Amino acid sequence: MKSKPSVSEILHHMGEDSLPLNAVSPPIFQTSIFCFESFEKFQEALADESSHFLYSRGNNPTVNLCESKLAALEHADSAKLVSSGSAAIALSILAFVKKGDHVVMVEDAYSWTRYMVTDYLSRFGVEHTFVEGKDPRDFERAIKSNTTLFYLESPTTLTFKLQDLKAVARIAKVHGIKTVIDNTWATPIFQNPIDLGIDVVVHSASKYIGGNSDLVAGVIAGSMEDINHIFNTEFLPLGPAPDPFMAWLIMRNLRTLHIRMPVHFENAKKVCRFLQDNPKVESVLYPFAAGYDQADLAVSQMRGGSGLFSFMLKTRSRDDVKLFVNSLHLFKRAVSWGGYESLVFPAAVKFADDQEIPAGKLPLIRLHIGLEDADELISDLKQALDKIS
Ligand SMILES: *Cc1c(COP(=O)(O)O)cnc(C)c1O
Repeated sequence: MKSKPSVSEILHHMGEDSLPLNAVSPPIFQTSIFCFESFEKFQEALADESSHFLYSRGNNPTVNLCESKLAALEHADSAKLVSSGSAAIALSILAFVKKGDHVVMVEDAYSWTRYMVTDYLSRFGVEHTFVEGKDPRDFERAIKSNTTLFYLESPTTLTFKLQDLKAVARIAKVHGIKTVIDNTWATPIFQNPIDLGIDVVVHSASKYIGGNSDLVAGVIAGSMEDINHIFNTEFLPLGPAPDPFMAWLIMRNLRTLHIRMPVHFENAKKVCRFLQDNPKVESVLYPFAAGYDQADLAVSQMRGGSGLFSFMLKTRSRDDVKLFVNSLHLFKRAVSWGGYESLVFPAAVKFADDQEIPAGKLPLIRLHIGLEDADELISDLKQALDKIS
């Protein structure tokens, strides 16, 4: 068997040795349609859009080159680029359920992912059960005769709970249930769920794959059969086509993915150590932090961690939380993550001033640790922590 191409080969060379006019940077095929030299060729393309260039809502050469790299990175046969991570998630869920089916989902999944089962699929008679997911038996116990899909996100991106991917995939296989995982946090640099038996991997490429906070995109990776199924039954009719320029931007940003991720990892570990030793901090939620309750599982299924984690302040004062957040200079106050820059997202910001904040949410601060100098980030956190009780 041919050995898998290295990450560098995928990011820097794959599919790029015979570009038009010997261009080094892949050309952007900014075209909506492709034409045919004859009736017969036209007929052929219409009969099988998944393997022809016909219309850019389906395939586009710039997009396809990017997809071949994303598939290889995830050790998948095939991948589809879509217009957002949420589109990737919606398509992957919709493709594997029909009226009367049942989905088991991790309860701390991304908010719009939860919405898909609580508000969207419920309109079409699809049931769901949320599970914590730290114990693989959570999934097993939730199975019903009509369960067709397990939806995972490991780790979850506010509470950082992991699922044992191998064990959950094994349970799913026994019961003929499809598995979809959101792998946005770890990226394919640090975790390859398909190698552990998971069927379909989705990403918000708006995070590390894009890596520069300058685009919104999503990825779906899996077997040829599953991706073709999603292409024909969901992608073509719903129409979340990626723009060729966006695919080009992703390829450009991907070239540094394997360099960026270890820096996020080292920086995050340093900042975690500082926070764990700071008297104003109650606890740190990072799978690779010293003493983390799922540290063994983290090491067994991931080669490293990214720059996103949460921590709990000791204070229970809303004013302290605001003062801390407002005192930061290097951390930008914003949603999302995965770019070069550090960000702060306090869980309390989702609540109006006259609204009660659940006890576990008030002191919860999520940080994205960017590519800046870790010591400078630590100094910034220190001066802000020094201001609160
Ligand atoms: C951001 C995010 C999404 C949604 O992706 P978009 O590109 O914003 O649509 C899904 N899952 C996770 C874990 C995310 O962080």
